[in-house]
Formats: sequence, C-alpha cells, structure tokens
Amino acid sequence: MKTTGYAAYSADKPLAPYDFERRELRGNDVAIEILYSGVCHSDLHTARGDWGPYTAPLVPGHEIVGKVIAVGPDVEHYAVGDPVGVGCMVDSCQDCDQCDHGEEQYCRNGMTATYDSKDRITGEPTQGGYSKHIVVREEFVLAMPDGLDLSRAAPLLCAGITTYSPLRTWNVGPGSRVGVIGMGGLGHMAIKLAIALGAHVTVLSRSPSKEKDALELGADAVLISTDKDAMKAARNSLDLIIDTVPVKHDVTPYMPLLDVDGTLAIVGQVGPMEEFMTPPAIMGRRRIAGSLIGGIAETQEMLDFCGRMNILPECEMIKMDEINTAFDRMEKADVRYRFVIDMSSVDAPAA
Ligand SMILES: [Zn+2]
Ligand SMILES: [Zn+2]
Repeated sequence: MKTTGYAAYSADKPLAPYDFERRELRGNDVAIEILYSGVCHSDLHTARGDWGPYTAPLVPGHEIVGKVIAVGPDVEHYAVGDPVGVGCMVDSCQDCDQCDHGEEQYCRNGMTATYDSKDRITGEPTQGGYSKHIVVREEFVLAMPDGLDLSRAAPLLCAGITTYSPLRTWNVGPGSRVGVIGMGGLGHMAIKLAIALGAHVTVLSRSPSKEKDALELGADAVLISTDKDAMKAARNSLDLIIDTVPVKHDVTPYMPLLDVDGTLAIVGQVGPMEEFMTPPAIMGRRRIAGSLIGGIAETQEMLDFCGRMNILPECEMIKMDEINTAFDRMEKADVRYRFVIDMSSVDAPAA
C-alpha cells in the first residue's frame, strides 16, 4: 500500500516529506488510516540522533489514532470503520513470560517499537505515525472507547500509558499522596490520571510561575522545590513521585519528600542522571524506580478509564508541515501540553 508522511533524513536536517510503502496485509493485520498523530519528546530525541544513529529515512510518531480501513482474514476483534489507536509497540515475541502476562514492553526477546525498529518477519524498518496509514498486527491495536474525542486522544497512547502504568503499579487510589515533577506532555497526564484515580496530587516545581497552570489541571497543591522551608515541611508527605523530567537532573532533593517505602518513578529521562546521595533512600527504605510505557492490556484499561472519566490531554493541533517548528518549540518547553498533528493536512498519494 502506498502511503506518505514526513521523515527524518539525518540528525541535523529538518523533517521532510517521504513517500513509502506499507506492507501487504498478513492474516492478522489491521490497516489503519491515521487521523491524528501525537508528537512525543522521543520523536524529537530520535530524529535529532540524541539516542544514537538511526536508519534513515525514519518516520517518527507513536501516539496514533485512526480508523480501520482493511483487515486480514484472521482478524477477530476489528472491522472496517472502527476507531483505533496504536502506541509505542507494534509487536513482541508473544511467547515469553512477560508477553504471557501482558507486559509486552518488557518482552524477553525485545518488543518491536513502532518506529526505528525492525519488523520481526521481514526485518524491514518500522515506520511511525507521521504518515497517512499504518499496518499493525491486531494484538497491538487498541480500541478507542465510544465518546472519547479522537482529536485529543492520541497523546494517551504514549504520555497517557507512561504515567498511568506506574500509578497502577504502585497502587494509587483514594488517599494516595502523589507528587509530579515536570509539567509537560507526561507530567500533565500524570496529574490528570492521578486525580481521576482519587489521589491527592502535589506538583513539584522549581518556580512559582507554574502554580496557576498546575491548579487548573486539577492538582491539589504546588510545592516550590527552591523553597527550602517548604521542602523541609513537606518531608515524608508523599507515597509516590512520578518524575517526568526529560533531561539529566538530580533526584536527591525530592527523596526526603517520600514517606517510608515511598517510590520515585522515573519515566522521562533516558540516559545519565546527576550523582545522587544515598541517605534519603537508606533512611526510609525509599526507592528510585523506572517504568516503561505499559502493556497492551493495561493500555486498553487506561483508554477505557479515560473514556469513562472523560480524561483528555491538552493538545495544540498542528498541520504536518509545521512539525519542524513544533520540534523547536518543544525544545523550549513551549507547548501546552502536547502537539497533535492533524493528518488531514497531508494528501494521500495517488493510488
Ligand atoms: Zn512517546
Ligand atoms: Zn516476549
């Protein structure tokens, strides 16, 4: 199937149009016309080569919402016209203990990422959502719940599940005390989801300028991390901190805010961190953990939860040819809170 989109050609060049082919449908494949594609920090990092070299051209995008346009003969759960989503994974071995218990993101044989990965059968590069169409095996296709505004739902597929999974892993519910560091695409979803799960949510911010925005998103409190007295008074006051900061930083000052057995879960920065001091971890059995997206079943649970509670990301809609400006603005944290590409801004290629 012919399709078209935007691709990264090299780390120092802007994204540019790219015509390419999607594979012929296998028995269990779903072909999707992409309607909306969220713009994740990972897209920017990958395209700019921050995480190492990649095979070009590379089509980023792993927050995909669209509608089914064709299905293979063995597909059981989807039909033409269904609203569907695709997140950060498009395949896994489906045979190991992690896949068996629904945590395909930790597949022992390595999950297949939506882009910058290799198809398990042909070895061809996978290409993501900055395109008109995608073909994905049905096990990795998500059903979009009725009534959820599709134009705003795309960021749930990465930012949503990345923050929902640690909230569920550490049993956040009514009475839980959750802190959120960083108020970008991930952070703003962490706030909304934790509130919806019944937690008391404190946003940790370096400057008071974020206070109004945090409260508007539903946070119960804002703690200014540069205010030494306030930080001291808040010791032992949190059960879980979701750390969404996407760059190298120091977690030491945040650790004393956790109660005994509390956890700081890193979901933003992939790479080195500042050296950290062990006393706050030792003197309270506090831990630092990481968390990677979530399994397919948990992603569906998150989507259904958002459908029931009408939880939607705050989005700024852009056209496909505005992507390079969007990347520049993301680097300056100048977006509230997620860019979403309206894929109707791209013409389908002639058949
Ligand atoms: Zn992402
Ligand atoms: Zn596996």
